[in-house]
Amino acid sequence: MADGTGHEVVVVGSANADLVVRVERRPGPGETVLGSDFDTHPGGKGANQAVAAALLGGRVALLGRVGDDGYGELLRDALALVGVDTRALLTTPAPTGVAFIAVGPDGENSIIVAPGANARLTPADVDPAFLAGARVVSLQTEIPVETVLAAARAATDAGVRTVLNLSPVPAASTALLGLCDVLVVNEHEAGLLLPGAARTPAALLALGPRAVVVTLGADGACVADETGETFVPAPPVEAVDTTGAGDAFTAALCLRLARGDGVVDAARFAVRVGAAAVRSPGAQASYPSAEDALPG
Ligand code: ADP
Repeated sequence: MADGTGHEVVVVGSANADLVVRVERRPGPGETVLGSDFDTHPGGKGANQAVAAALLGGRVALLGRVGDDGYGELLRDALALVGVDTRALLTTPAPTGVAFIAVGPDGENSIIVAPGANARLTPADVDPAFLAGARVVSLQTEIPVETVLAAARAATDAGVRTVLNLSPVPAASTALLGLCDVLVVNEHEAGLLLPGAARTPAALLALGPRAVVVTLGADGACVADETGETFVPAPPVEAVDTTGAGDAFTAALCLRLARGDGVVDAARFAVRVGAAAVRSPGAQASYPSAEDALPG
């Protein structure tokens, strides 16, 4: 694998085809509901973040795995279209990951992921030299946790900042939390990390990260670091589809951190990008350019 070439953000993570149906109501156990026509979009947390950061003008690479099938081609095309470096996106003889997404009328979604090729991304696939050239390495947990750990260690050893979007929350996350500079979670994930305790960003700081960002949907985000907690409101928008909003947020945060912002300033930009991403359907299709991000 080639060495990195001064990427602002290297994303190590998943690429999935999003299989989307809009429904009036999401089904309960044992229930069938009829939905809209079915749509297929490029998605997955890693690919979403890479596309979002590239659309904002970043120099970005994605390290991951797709399958040797049509969905893999769909994902490669979407990444290439916005200029994401895919030299570290490997192809494996397995199905590309897919996410089954039901979107309700309020824009909220329910998702089931079949990891496919993402589950085959191993620690040996993480080339430390590729990460060493980045300003920020962005990690999520739709790939095996040992691979996320290997990437976090390689980045830390090279003095590269790590942003960990702990989504979904894995069974064992202690080692990972100790290795990340900035932890990004939504309220639900924060609750899983701190069952029964006060779910404040400051309480999450005690788990190891240097800074914590809890995203709060329409309310924006709350940042905790050594200076205390700062609430960062999101601009009001009409939510059409919240799929991938957190990925747009995290990508924007990573890019601004790579460009030298502090975490609070980076979050002020990220809430605008997250809000812009809920105004239209799809994940990557809804992501704004730097000019399209809502005014602060
Ligand atoms: P996730 O998508 O991971 O569940 P959130 O729902 O907290 O994360 O959303 C992430 C970010 O997207 C928020 O911090 C905010 O900037 C933006 N966002 C999400 N939903 C809305 C909304 N209804 N109105 C405005 N911004 C939103």
